[in-house]
Amino acid sequence: MLKQTRGLHHVTSMAVDASENNAFFTGVLGLRRVKKTVNFDSLEVYHLYYGDETGTPGSVMTYFPFGRIPRGRRGTGEVGVTEFAVANGALPYWKDRLSSKGVTGLSDGSFLGEPRLDFSGPDGDSFALVETDMRDRTPWTGSDVPEEAGILGFHSARLRLRSATQTAELLNFMGYSKDETDGAVTRYRIEGGNAANTIDLEELPDAGAASQGAGSVHHIAFAVEDRAAQLEVRKALMDTGYQVTPVIDRDYFWAIYFRTPGGVLFEIATNEPGFDRDEDTAHLGQALKLPARYEPHRAKIERFLPPLSA
Ligand code: ZN
Repeated sequence: MLKQTRGLHHVTSMAVDASENNAFFTGVLGLRRVKKTVNFDSLEVYHLYYGDETGTPGSVMTYFPFGRIPRGRRGTGEVGVTEFAVANGALPYWKDRLSSKGVTGLSDGSFLGEPRLDFSGPDGDSFALVETDMRDRTPWTGSDVPEEAGILGFHSARLRLRSATQTAELLNFMGYSKDETDGAVTRYRIEGGNAANTIDLEELPDAGAASQGAGSVHHIAFAVEDRAAQLEVRKALMDTGYQVTPVIDRDYFWAIYFRTPGGVLFEIATNEPGFDRDEDTAHLGQALKLPARYEPHRAKIERFLPPLSA
């Protein structure tokens, strides 16, 4: 069993409209945009990162707003719900806030004893806010969300799977232990991780396969401390039979990717170097940042990118 995994690092999803996406995450959810860059494989598409003040691993939701792409179809083999943590007692505030801002799909309930509020994103994304007893996270305080209600990074990601067996084995291998079960959903938790230390597996044997599009999660990334730990994880996964990409430089972390047996794309991302490697913490996310190799094309890239509202 691996010892290097530290919980979630980031979740990356797809959207249609960059400006709408930016307004939703900063203006409605009150996250900080911690990086404005481009999709390194598709320079006319932004890669927008939202999180806490510094983009702490485990707090970072990222988006590729592709422009006109079809909406995803929900099903198995994908992350079904991306869940954010809030402090105990914060949900009534959020219910009022989200409904007053026209957010759809609001539905409150509880799971494994934790109150939650499910809601939809601008592209039909499935999100939830979950009340937790979390004391080791602080929210971004630069928005109009009161500090006591602010989002405290991820709570978990709920994977929808036709069969959960092999993905459960993989999570065990990565250091997660089986926690509680409620109906078709089983919770897995990692000790010694960051605050985003939970993954839920929902088994839906009769559901059809998802097709990815706007509002779908593209991949979820798990955190490791540094490049040495990442190489250890890569070797262990390959020794177990996984096809893992070479290490890829994503400027703010190093990444490896592999497709899991249930169909979800996993990434292992390093906590180093972080989002302050090319701009200081006070100004994170404001200027368009490009990898050094694309700097000569900045003027052309900027012409293709739509303006963001803030
Ligand atoms: Zn990623």
